Amino acid sequence: AAKAGGRDQYRVHSVEFEEAAHQGLKVREMVRAALGENRMTLYYQPIVRIDGPVVGAEALLRLRHDDYGLLAPGAFAGVLDSGPLARALGRHVLETAAAHAERWIMAEVRTPEGLPLRISVNVSAAYLLDPGFLGDVRATLARHPRLMPAALEIEITESAPLRDLADVHQILHACLALGLRVALDDFGTGSASLTYLQKLPAQTLKIDQSFVRDMAHDPKDYAIVSAVAHVGHLLGLDVVAEGVETDRHLEFLRGLGCVCVQGYAIARPMSADDLPGWCRMYEKRRTAAR
Ligand code: C2E
Ligand code: MG
Ligand code: MG
Ligand code: MG
Repeated sequence: AAKAGGRDQYRVHSVEFEEAAHQGLKVREMVRAALGENRMTLYYQPIVRIDGPVVGAEALLRLRHDDYGLLAPGAFAGVLDSGPLARALGRHVLETAAAHAERWIMAEVRTPEGLPLRISVNVSAAYLLDPGFLGDVRATLARHPRLMPAALEIEITESAPLRDLADVHQILHACLALGLRVALDDFGTGSASLTYLQKLPAQTLKIDQSFVRDMAHDPKDYAIVSAVAHVGHLLGLDVVAEGVETDRHLEFLRGLGCVCVQGYAIARPMSADDLPGWCRMYEKRRTAAR
């Protein structure tokens, strides 16, 4: 097609590019407006110990749109990862999650062991590497003194370029020094997973859902999930399997000694208002079933 297309092909690409750039601009405007009008909200998806209690929840960003309803990050991913809104959004997410977490501590929403829920927040590489990031974290912790830093976990993916690894390393160590936890998210999907695992300080390893999805049918996926869970355990990390949708998934993960699970089989992401009630309900059902 490229050969036959010649100059036309170029023109088509160029139009497509302009359209894409225009879309990007529109998306940025949409997000900017939503941020200004307080329509960027967080949903929470519980993380539970397999066959055990809830341990925490992951904060997932949602945009409340007048016409389209609640939009997930797929609709505005580019804006999260780069450009002028990355920090504004990142800061908003940190602050909002910390405020919710502190509210739950004061309302005595706890794990059955009496610990505060661990709230996990996704941090883009762009925000993590922003010179303002650590100051934002400190300011957020200072604004929410009842929130123990250990109850806040930042999730990072392998999207940071390798040449920035030394910077990422330093920033994560500063986070640990503040008492925060670090999770390696979507583990195995980046280009240098094992290097990240080797170099970066973390307490949690999240197995990406793309490996979990077909693990019951695809021996390759099963082998990968098994190996990742194993290396996580050997390194003394908390291992969380993401995208756990079915009882079959749970069965297989149980067999691998996976400690924690997150996915539709447990709960869909829900509003901050719904999380405390869900936790109570889950614990009641769980202890009744024993
Ligand atoms: P992630 O951090 O890996 O989050 C898990 C995603 O998987 C969420 O999608 C969640 O809704 C979805 N999910 C959970 N359980 C299941 C399941 O059983 N099956 C399937 N098919 N999907 C499941 P969501 O909310 O659309 O977020 C997508 C990604 O956007 C996140 O992936 C994360 O990388 C990013 N993201 C979300 N919130 C934020 C944020 O506040 N800041 C930044 N920088 N990125 C965010
Ligand atoms: Mg995540
Ligand atoms: Mg993930
Ligand atoms: Mg993922």
